[in-house]
Amino acid sequence: MNNPAYIGRFAPTPSGFLHFGSLVAALASYLDARAVGGRWLLRMEDLDPPREMPGAQAAILHTLESYGLEWDGEVVYQSLRHDAYAQVIDQLFNHGLAYACTCSRKQLEPFNGIYPGVCRNLGHGPGDAAIRVRVPELSYHFIDRVQGRFEQHLGRECGDFVIRRRDGLYAYQLAVVLDDAWQGVSDVVRGADLLDSTPRHLYLQELLGLKQPRYLHVPLITQPDGHKLGKSYRSPPLQPHEAAPLLVRALRALGQPVPTGLAQATPAEVLRWGIAHWDSDLIAKVPSLPEATL
Ligand code: GLU
Ligand code: ZN
Repeated sequence: MNNPAYIGRFAPTPSGFLHFGSLVAALASYLDARAVGGRWLLRMEDLDPPREMPGAQAAILHTLESYGLEWDGEVVYQSLRHDAYAQVIDQLFNHGLAYACTCSRKQLEPFNGIYPGVCRNLGHGPGDAAIRVRVPELSYHFIDRVQGRFEQHLGRECGDFVIRRRDGLYAYQLAVVLDDAWQGVSDVVRGADLLDSTPRHLYLQELLGLKQPRYLHVPLITQPDGHKLGKSYRSPPLQPHEAAPLLVRALRALGQPVPTGLAQATPAEVLRWGIAHWDSDLIAKVPSLPEATL
């Protein structure tokens, strides 16, 4: 089966190893693609070298391979896409759709992450400044395949947002939109921690005349205290010898009715079962699930 209408992707950030929460997101996007004969691409979101963990890139690729999650084609590295990002930033800046911001972190502290627009009309040059996109006083919404309707008023709930940091690093919010479009991604399947970034993505897509993909946000796996799993919360990295039982556990986290005994199968057999039985309607319509209950 080869379905050219579906292109999915997994887009890990190499700031740490993959953990159970990343496995749930990777598996959901893999199964959603493979169940319809679609392609599944891999993109390394290596935009922030200072926050990168040495060895994480190789470890992520190795983990995916040992779990049987084979991607199509070459890995795309965002670190090799800087020219594309810079070109779009110039274009937005020159059209007055983005502007330079020299506000310090400290200055912005009282505003709870919603930029108050201080530099909007000050006409700073683009050097030694962050670049922000001007957002309209409008709501953007989409229908998530699992979470349903999600809406955000960009002016009130987000504010003008950064697309290039003052230190010259490009922002996830811009890179993800450009790369999903460039790679022809039809279906974005990822963790629900990115639900509230999606309206920004919709706005950038509109601004740049890019096609909007479908979205499916899977519940975020959290620690008992409600925190996201990740290196800061001592979530253990995925071990190759645990592939089959952890894939089964990830299937359960995605609401799939896994038969008992499948945990004794090989990773490839677990994935074959997952592809044959994939039903995204069974995924819980909740933003997060505590790991301890799975
Ligand atoms: N790189 C992001 C992360 O690891 C995921 C981005 C996405 O799927 O859009 O959280
Ligand atoms: Zn500013």
